[in-house]
Amino acid sequence: MIEGFLKQKGNIVKVVQDDFPNKDSKVLVDVYYCGICGTDYQKYIGMDTVSEWGHEIIGKIHSQKDGNLVTIRTTYPCGKCMDCNTGHFEKCQNWSRLNMNGFANQVCVDEKSIIDLGVKKTDVVFSLVEPLYVAHSLIQHVHPTCDAVYSVIGNGTIGLLTAFLLRKKYEAEVRVVGRRNLPKRKKFIEEIGASYYSFDDLEKALKDSNKIIITTPYHTIPNILKVVDSYSFVTFNGISRENIIPIEMDQWHFKNINIWPSFPHPQTDFSEEIKIIKKNKELLRSIITDFYNLDDIEEAFKRLTDKKQDCIKILIKCNEVKK
Ligand SMILES: [Zn+2]
Ligand SMILES: [Zn+2]
Repeated sequence: MIEGFLKQKGNIVKVVQDDFPNKDSKVLVDVYYCGICGTDYQKYIGMDTVSEWGHEIIGKIHSQKDGNLVTIRTTYPCGKCMDCNTGHFEKCQNWSRLNMNGFANQVCVDEKSIIDLGVKKTDVVFSLVEPLYVAHSLIQHVHPTCDAVYSVIGNGTIGLLTAFLLRKKYEAEVRVVGRRNLPKRKKFIEEIGASYYSFDDLEKALKDSNKIIITTPYHTIPNILKVVDSYSFVTFNGISRENIIPIEMDQWHFKNINIWPSFPHPQTDFSEEIKIIKKNKELLRSIITDFYNLDDIEEAFKRLTDKKQDCIKILIKCNEVKK
């Protein structure tokens, strides 16, 4: 029996389900932990009406108690188009999406959704596989090179993981712009060898930096474009209450700025992300700052709403953890 929580008509409601369509062709996965993503928060505050949420899952296939830890991918490239055939899955136009509810003790999904993490022992760090994939596709959108100076705007999970990847893969100079007085984020940024700027120093941070990755809400974009260098590459993956933002076209036009929005990013096998996580477990685990029981999911969202909190990634304990 699946027990979980959905967002329905503005409320978090408990759901119990004991039958599923096409059950025989699907796989039942016991969910151990599920991270709260920005897109879940979007649903929590009522910006999105899809009631399924929770995709940053780790768990095990129900019928294989001694099996490996698995995660689940929720978007798929078609695998057939020209972009897919040339390895540019991030550009696939025919991608599809799986809607599932990860804030539950179990999920019932197609086999193709399941990704084997190659380890038996439960380690919460693997719940960062999917966010790390998102960070990876953000980087691809600014045409990365080793000699560039990167600015990452925003110091939430995606911002921090993007900065981490840029340092790891390109050893490039990375500047992170974010809110002040958040010691856990500051510590992570120092540990990866990036530098930390507050929003008041945005202009300083963007000076001579022409690869800009924005992970903050859309309303920050006009201010960023004001101080961005000419010929910059800009991508964004923020969540925002506002869909329409005013941009002075002169800023875009005369500065020749390349802006490539970074969604969707159809997911492949996460193999590179899994490898990177295995090599950097301790450091990456420090991004996970809070745990809540499944029954207390509303408390977890309330904590995220309080912007003074130094909490980065919250994981929901969806099941008793089996070793
Ligand atoms: Zn996510
Ligand atoms: Zn395709």
